Amino acid sequence: MPGTELFGEEEKKEVMDVLNTGVLFRFNHDAQRQGHWKAKDFEAEVAKFCNAKYGLAVSSGSTAVNTMLAACGVGYGDEVVVPPFTYIATIEAVLLAGALPVFAEIDDTLCMSAEGIRAVISPKTKAILLVHMCGAAADLDGILAICKEKNIMLIEDSAQALGASYKGKMLGTYGRMGSFSYDFFKINTCGEGGIVITDDQQLWDTAQQFADHGHDHIGNNRGMEQHPIMGTNFRIGEINAAIGLAQTRKLSFILEKQRAHKAIIQARLSKIPGLQFRRHTDEAGDSATFFHLLLPSEQVARATVKLFAEAGIPHGYWYDNMFHYIKQWDHVKNLSMPYKLVAHELGLPQDLKTMKFPKSDAVMSQLISFNIRVTWTEAELDAMLERGGGEEGDGGGGGCV
Ligand SMILES: *Cc1c(COP(=O)(O)O)cnc(C)c1O
Repeated sequence: MPGTELFGEEEKKEVMDVLNTGVLFRFNHDAQRQGHWKAKDFEAEVAKFCNAKYGLAVSSGSTAVNTMLAACGVGYGDEVVVPPFTYIATIEAVLLAGALPVFAEIDDTLCMSAEGIRAVISPKTKAILLVHMCGAAADLDGILAICKEKNIMLIEDSAQALGASYKGKMLGTYGRMGSFSYDFFKINTCGEGGIVITDDQQLWDTAQQFADHGHDHIGNNRGMEQHPIMGTNFRIGEINAAIGLAQTRKLSFILEKQRAHKAIIQARLSKIPGLQFRRHTDEAGDSATFFHLLLPSEQVARATVKLFAEAGIPHGYWYDNMFHYIKQWDHVKNLSMPYKLVAHELGLPQDLKTMKFPKSDAVMSQLISFNIRVTWTEAELDAMLERGGGEEGDGGGGGCV
């Protein structure tokens, strides 16, 4: 969690700007706010970092995904291709939109493969909601080719991939829209927050209206603004945005450090015969928030997990994680919700209760992940690799959420 490791005076200064004026709201109150527009600055700086034309800050990475789906017109009965390995927010967003998730197999890139997507495309497929899992790119060339051929839109839930790129272009800018999360566990955090980026002014405009009850944000009298559409409140507050702004200015430093640390780990572990790593579609673009091992079998992986646990080495075994892999998603399979969804009415396109994901299972059951820390010194990292363990009590690496 590199962002949280670096909280300092910069975050405090930005927050105090907001508290000193008392304007916690991102719009209006021009005189009282004394020139402080944290949400506007936050979205502008993130858009610039990503080389995108427009940014919209919202209340979370989850609401960012819902905002993208809404702006792209994804709703009632639309099929949306999603991965079985993601944070559950991706799937919930599709269902809440009234759309229907269709799961495609992942491969050793830890993301949906072009082959996996191709196998589940139907005439009803409206969008591919691509997740660049664990901070690195999916096979964008292969997936974009499908989008073009089948006239399907690409939307990027790049919640975990802020700062990562593919062939020199930032993730989140390949689709019609892309989103990032700033929750407590991401590379940059603002407590709770999200950003949507796009190059399409029309999409941005719809997104910013949808995320604020349809307000068109023209003029200086909020109550008298026009409301071209309905929406809801997915706004970010100025205090969260202030922290996000300070964190954005640390992103280059974080990426540089993380990548250096990853290279050290990689060099050392590459000497171990038989050990495999996550396959990268563009390794240079990896944000290096994680280090991933692929063990030869589930049995070996589980035995290794046990050894790590006994040795007190923080690690993540996503295959058993309740919120990141479909194996544990009975609530999705049963469509357990407090109210009736479109999916209840129309039924899911796939029979998730009996469906198997052999390719995804094979990768997931063999995958062990470690968090890379930004604040490690090289000496610390060296000593840790020598011991084969993390610093006692410091959370070492790993400890995936
Ligand atoms: C974290 C995450 C989200 C949700 O972000 P929040 O800010 O926690 O709402 C969505 N999708 C993916 C892939 C994530 O990792």
